[in-house]
Amino acid sequence: TSALPAIEAPRITGVHTSRGFISTRVVVNAAGAWAAQIAEMAGAELPVEPLRRQLVPTEPFDQLPQRFPMVIDMSTGFHFRREGKGILLAWNDPKETPGFKTEFDTTFVEKILTRAASRVPVLAEAGVNPRRAWAGLYEMTPDHHAIIGPAPNVEGLYFVNGFSGHGVMHSPASGRVTADLILQGRSDLIDANQLSVERFKQGKLLEETAVL
Ligand SMILES: Cc1cc2nc3c(=O)[nH]c(=O)nc-3n(C[C@H](O)[C@H](O)[C@H](O)COP(=O)(O)OP(=O)(O)OC[C@H]3O[C@@H](n4cnc5c(N)ncnc54)[C@H](O)[C@@H]3O)c2cc1C
Repeated sequence: TSALPAIEAPRITGVHTSRGFISTRVVVNAAGAWAAQIAEMAGAELPVEPLRRQLVPTEPFDQLPQRFPMVIDMSTGFHFRREGKGILLAWNDPKETPGFKTEFDTTFVEKILTRAASRVPVLAEAGVNPRRAWAGLYEMTPDHHAIIGPAPNVEGLYFVNGFSGHGVMHSPASGRVTADLILQGRSDLIDANQLSVERFKQGKLLEETAVL
Protein backbone atom coordinates (compact mmCIF):
# COMPACT_ATOMS: atom_id res chain seq x y z
CA THR A 1 0.00 0.00 0.00
CA SER A 2 1.41 3.36 -0.91
CA ALA A 3 0.38 6.37 1.08
CA LEU A 4 0.27 9.99 0.01
CA PRO A 5 0.06 12.82 2.45
CA ALA A 6 -3.35 14.49 2.39
CA ILE A 7 -2.74 18.06 1.33
CA GLU A 8 -5.66 20.29 2.12
CA ALA A 9 -6.18 23.48 0.18
CA PRO A 10 -5.22 26.41 2.36
CA ARG A 11 -8.16 28.40 3.65
CA ILE A 12 -8.62 31.96 4.77
CA THR A 13 -8.78 32.49 8.51
CA GLY A 14 -8.29 36.23 8.67
CA VAL A 15 -6.46 39.30 7.46
CA HIS A 16 -3.44 41.01 8.99
CA THR A 17 -3.91 44.77 8.69
CA SER A 18 -1.95 47.79 9.90
CA ARG A 19 -4.62 48.04 12.62
CA GLY A 20 -4.38 44.45 13.76
CA PHE A 21 -5.74 41.04 12.82
CA ILE A 22 -9.30 40.62 11.58
CA SER A 23 -10.66 37.11 11.94
CA THR A 24 -12.81 36.07 8.96
CA ARG A 25 -13.47 33.03 6.79
CA VAL A 26 -14.11 35.10 3.65
CA VAL A 27 -11.90 37.72 2.04
CA VAL A 28 -12.74 39.62 -1.14
CA ASN A 29 -9.75 40.85 -3.10
CA ALA A 30 -10.87 44.21 -4.52
CA ALA A 31 -7.41 45.75 -4.74
CA GLY A 32 -7.60 47.13 -8.29
CA ALA A 33 -4.18 47.43 -9.94
CA TRP A 34 -2.56 45.90 -6.82
CA ALA A 35 -4.77 42.80 -6.88
CA ALA A 36 -2.07 40.34 -8.00
CA GLN A 37 0.07 41.31 -5.00
CA ILE A 38 -2.82 40.71 -2.61
CA ALA A 39 -3.56 37.35 -4.24
CA GLU A 40 0.09 36.39 -3.89
CA MET A 41 -0.05 37.12 -0.14
CA ALA A 42 -2.64 34.34 0.06
CA GLY A 43 -0.65 32.04 -2.22
CA ALA A 44 -2.99 32.52 -5.19
CA GLU A 45 -2.18 33.47 -8.77
CA LEU A 46 -4.05 36.30 -10.43
CA PRO A 47 -3.24 37.59 -13.94
CA VAL A 48 -3.83 41.31 -13.33
CA GLU A 49 -1.26 43.89 -14.41
CA PRO A 50 -1.14 47.64 -13.80
CA LEU A 51 -1.13 49.75 -16.97
CA ARG A 52 -0.74 53.51 -17.00
CA ARG A 53 -3.55 55.55 -18.49
CA GLN A 54 -3.09 59.27 -19.10
CA LEU A 55 -5.76 61.95 -19.40
CA VAL A 56 -5.31 65.44 -20.84
CA PRO A 57 -7.73 68.29 -20.09
CA THR A 58 -7.60 71.30 -22.40
CA GLU A 59 -7.74 74.90 -21.29
CA PRO A 60 -11.20 76.54 -21.63
CA PHE A 61 -12.35 75.83 -25.19
CA ASP A 62 -15.49 77.33 -26.76
CA GLN A 63 -15.14 76.11 -30.33
CA LEU A 64 -17.14 72.98 -29.56
CA PRO A 65 -20.69 73.02 -28.15
CA GLN A 66 -21.12 73.38 -24.40
CA ARG A 67 -23.07 70.13 -24.29
CA PHE A 68 -22.34 67.05 -26.39
CA PRO A 69 -22.05 63.32 -25.66
CA MET A 70 -18.72 61.59 -25.15
CA VAL A 71 -17.37 60.90 -28.65
CA ILE A 72 -15.21 57.88 -29.51
CA ASP A 73 -13.07 57.51 -32.63
CA MET A 74 -13.23 53.74 -32.95
CA SER A 75 -10.35 53.70 -35.44
CA THR A 76 -7.81 54.86 -32.83
CA GLY A 77 -9.67 54.69 -29.52
CA PHE A 78 -9.23 58.46 -29.08
CA HIS A 79 -12.22 59.89 -27.23
CA PHE A 80 -13.25 63.17 -25.72
CA ARG A 81 -15.96 64.91 -23.77
CA ARG A 82 -16.70 68.21 -22.11
CA GLU A 83 -15.03 68.72 -18.74
CA GLY A 84 -16.10 72.07 -17.31
CA LYS A 85 -15.05 74.83 -19.72
CA GLY A 86 -12.46 72.63 -21.41
CA ILE A 87 -12.44 69.27 -23.17
CA LEU A 88 -11.09 66.08 -21.63
CA LEU A 89 -8.95 64.15 -24.13
CA ALA A 90 -8.29 60.43 -23.66
CA TRP A 91 -6.43 57.82 -25.65
CA ASN A 92 -4.78 54.52 -24.77
CA ASP A 93 -1.23 54.57 -26.07
CA PRO A 94 -0.71 51.03 -27.45
CA LYS A 95 3.02 51.43 -26.71
CA GLU A 96 2.40 51.79 -22.97
CA THR A 97 4.03 48.98 -20.98
CA PRO A 98 2.77 47.41 -17.72
CA GLY A 99 4.05 48.75 -14.40
CA PHE A 100 3.20 50.95 -11.44
CA LYS A 101 3.88 54.20 -13.31
CA THR A 102 1.68 57.08 -12.28
CA GLU A 103 3.76 60.08 -13.36
CA PHE A 104 2.41 61.99 -16.38
CA ASP A 105 4.68 61.76 -19.44
CA THR A 106 4.70 65.21 -21.08
CA THR A 107 5.54 63.74 -24.51
CA PHE A 108 2.05 62.23 -24.41
CA VAL A 109 0.49 65.67 -25.03
CA GLU A 110 1.73 65.85 -28.61
CA LYS A 111 0.74 62.24 -29.27
CA ILE A 112 -2.83 62.74 -28.12
CA LEU A 113 -3.22 66.14 -29.81
CA THR A 114 -2.19 64.52 -33.11
CA ARG A 115 -5.00 61.94 -32.74
CA ALA A 116 -7.41 64.65 -31.63
CA ALA A 117 -6.68 66.99 -34.55
CA SER A 118 -6.84 64.25 -37.15
CA ARG A 119 -10.43 63.42 -36.10
CA VAL A 120 -11.61 66.87 -34.92
CA PRO A 121 -9.40 69.45 -36.69
CA VAL A 122 -10.60 72.34 -34.51
CA LEU A 123 -8.98 70.64 -31.49
CA ALA A 124 -5.58 71.59 -32.97
CA GLU A 125 -6.36 75.05 -31.58
CA ALA A 126 -6.95 73.82 -28.01
CA GLY A 127 -4.41 74.87 -25.40
CA VAL A 128 -3.03 72.31 -22.95
CA ASN A 129 -1.23 72.86 -19.66
CA PRO A 130 0.65 69.58 -19.04
CA ARG A 131 0.66 70.29 -15.30
CA ARG A 132 -3.11 69.77 -15.27
CA ALA A 133 -2.82 66.39 -17.01
CA TRP A 134 -2.65 63.24 -14.95
CA ALA A 135 -2.20 59.49 -14.99
CA GLY A 136 -3.80 56.55 -13.21
CA LEU A 137 -3.59 52.78 -13.41
CA TYR A 138 -5.80 50.41 -15.35
CA GLU A 139 -5.93 46.86 -13.95
CA MET A 140 -5.53 44.68 -17.03
CA THR A 141 -6.34 41.00 -17.51
CA PRO A 142 -5.18 39.04 -20.58
CA ASP A 143 -8.64 39.27 -22.22
CA HIS A 144 -9.56 42.70 -20.78
CA HIS A 145 -12.53 41.29 -18.89
CA ALA A 146 -13.06 41.17 -15.14
CA ILE A 147 -12.21 38.17 -12.98
CA ILE A 148 -15.02 37.46 -10.53
CA GLY A 149 -15.34 34.41 -8.32
CA PRO A 150 -13.56 32.14 -5.85
CA ALA A 151 -9.80 31.58 -5.98
CA PRO A 152 -9.39 27.93 -7.06
CA ASN A 153 -6.75 26.96 -4.49
CA VAL A 154 -7.48 29.13 -1.47
CA GLU A 155 -10.78 28.46 0.24
CA GLY A 156 -12.58 31.61 1.31
CA LEU A 157 -10.71 33.96 -1.06
CA TYR A 158 -12.80 35.70 -3.73
CA PHE A 159 -11.63 37.81 -6.63
CA VAL A 160 -13.44 40.85 -7.96
CA ASN A 161 -10.64 42.22 -10.04
CA GLY A 162 -9.19 43.08 -13.42
CA PHE A 163 -11.85 45.41 -14.78
CA SER A 164 -9.32 46.53 -17.37
CA GLY A 165 -10.37 50.16 -17.33
CA HIS A 166 -14.15 49.83 -17.18
CA GLY A 167 -14.71 48.97 -13.54
CA VAL A 168 -16.78 52.02 -12.59
CA MET A 169 -19.46 50.93 -15.04
CA HIS A 170 -19.31 47.32 -13.84
CA SER A 171 -19.27 48.03 -10.13
CA PRO A 172 -22.98 47.62 -9.20
CA ALA A 173 -23.31 44.27 -11.00
CA SER A 174 -19.92 43.06 -9.75
CA GLY A 175 -20.85 43.71 -6.14
CA ARG A 176 -24.13 41.88 -6.56
CA VAL A 177 -22.56 38.86 -8.31
CA THR A 178 -19.77 38.61 -5.73
CA ALA A 179 -22.26 38.70 -2.86
CA ASP A 180 -24.35 36.01 -4.58
CA LEU A 181 -21.31 33.77 -5.05
CA ILE A 182 -20.27 34.10 -1.42
CA LEU A 183 -23.76 33.50 -0.05
CA GLN A 184 -25.10 30.85 -2.41
CA GLY A 185 -22.27 29.74 -4.70
CA ARG A 186 -24.05 31.00 -7.83
CA SER A 187 -25.70 34.10 -9.24
CA ASP A 188 -28.97 34.56 -11.10
CA LEU A 189 -27.72 37.81 -12.60
CA ILE A 190 -25.13 36.27 -14.96
CA ASP A 191 -23.34 32.98 -15.52
CA ALA A 192 -20.39 33.87 -13.28
CA ASN A 193 -18.40 30.81 -14.40
CA GLN A 194 -17.49 32.75 -17.52
CA LEU A 195 -15.64 35.28 -15.38
CA SER A 196 -13.75 32.76 -13.29
CA VAL A 197 -9.95 33.05 -13.14
CA GLU A 198 -9.75 29.47 -14.40
CA ARG A 199 -10.84 30.56 -17.88
CA PHE A 200 -7.25 31.56 -18.67
CA LYS A 201 -5.88 28.06 -17.98
CA GLN A 202 -8.83 26.51 -19.83
CA GLY A 203 -8.31 28.78 -22.85
CA LYS A 204 -11.86 30.13 -22.53
CA LEU A 205 -10.98 33.78 -22.96
CA LEU A 206 -13.71 36.35 -23.49
CA GLU A 207 -13.36 38.72 -26.43
CA GLU A 208 -13.41 42.44 -25.73
CA THR A 209 -12.61 44.58 -28.72
CA ALA A 210 -13.71 47.96 -27.39
CA VAL A 211 -11.25 48.72 -24.59
CA LEU A 212 -10.76 52.46 -24.49
C1 LIG B 1 -7.54 57.42 -16.00
C2 LIG B 1 -8.61 56.41 -15.78
C3 LIG B 1 -9.85 56.60 -16.34
C4 LIG B 1 -10.87 55.67 -16.14
N1 LIG B 1 -12.09 55.89 -16.70
C5 LIG B 1 -13.09 55.00 -16.48
C6 LIG B 1 -14.38 55.23 -17.02
O1 LIG B 1 -14.62 56.22 -17.70
N2 LIG B 1 -15.34 54.30 -16.79
C7 LIG B 1 -15.11 53.18 -16.06
O2 LIG B 1 -16.01 52.37 -15.89
N3 LIG B 1 -13.89 52.94 -15.52
C8 LIG B 1 -12.87 53.82 -15.73
N4 LIG B 1 -11.63 53.58 -15.21
C9 LIG B 1 -11.38 52.30 -14.56
C10 LIG B 1 -11.88 52.28 -13.14
O3 LIG B 1 -11.36 53.40 -12.44
C11 LIG B 1 -11.41 50.97 -12.49
O4 LIG B 1 -11.78 49.87 -13.31
C12 LIG B 1 -12.08 50.84 -11.13
O5 LIG B 1 -11.72 51.93 -10.31
C13 LIG B 1 -11.64 49.55 -10.47
O6 LIG B 1 -12.28 49.51 -9.23
P1 LIG B 1 -11.73 48.59 -8.08
O7 LIG B 1 -12.61 48.84 -6.91
O8 LIG B 1 -11.57 47.20 -8.60
O9 LIG B 1 -10.24 49.11 -7.81
P2 LIG B 1 -9.75 50.55 -7.25
O10 LIG B 1 -10.79 51.60 -7.49
O11 LIG B 1 -8.39 50.76 -7.85
O12 LIG B 1 -9.64 50.29 -5.72
C14 LIG B 1 -8.66 49.41 -5.20
C15 LIG B 1 -8.38 49.88 -3.78
O13 LIG B 1 -7.57 48.91 -3.12
C16 LIG B 1 -6.68 49.61 -2.29
N5 LIG B 1 -5.55 48.74 -1.94
C17 LIG B 1 -4.60 48.20 -2.76
N6 LIG B 1 -3.74 47.45 -2.06
C18 LIG B 1 -4.15 47.50 -0.77
C19 LIG B 1 -3.66 46.93 0.45
N7 LIG B 1 -2.57 46.15 0.49
N8 LIG B 1 -4.33 47.19 1.59
C20 LIG B 1 -5.43 47.98 1.59
N9 LIG B 1 -5.94 48.55 0.47
C21 LIG B 1 -5.30 48.31 -0.68
C22 LIG B 1 -6.27 50.81 -3.13
O14 LIG B 1 -5.73 51.83 -2.33
C23 LIG B 1 -7.62 51.20 -3.73
O15 LIG B 1 -8.31 52.09 -2.91
C24 LIG B 1 -10.61 54.51 -15.38
C25 LIG B 1 -9.34 54.31 -14.80
C26 LIG B 1 -8.35 55.25 -15.00
C27 LIG B 1 -7.00 55.02 -14.38
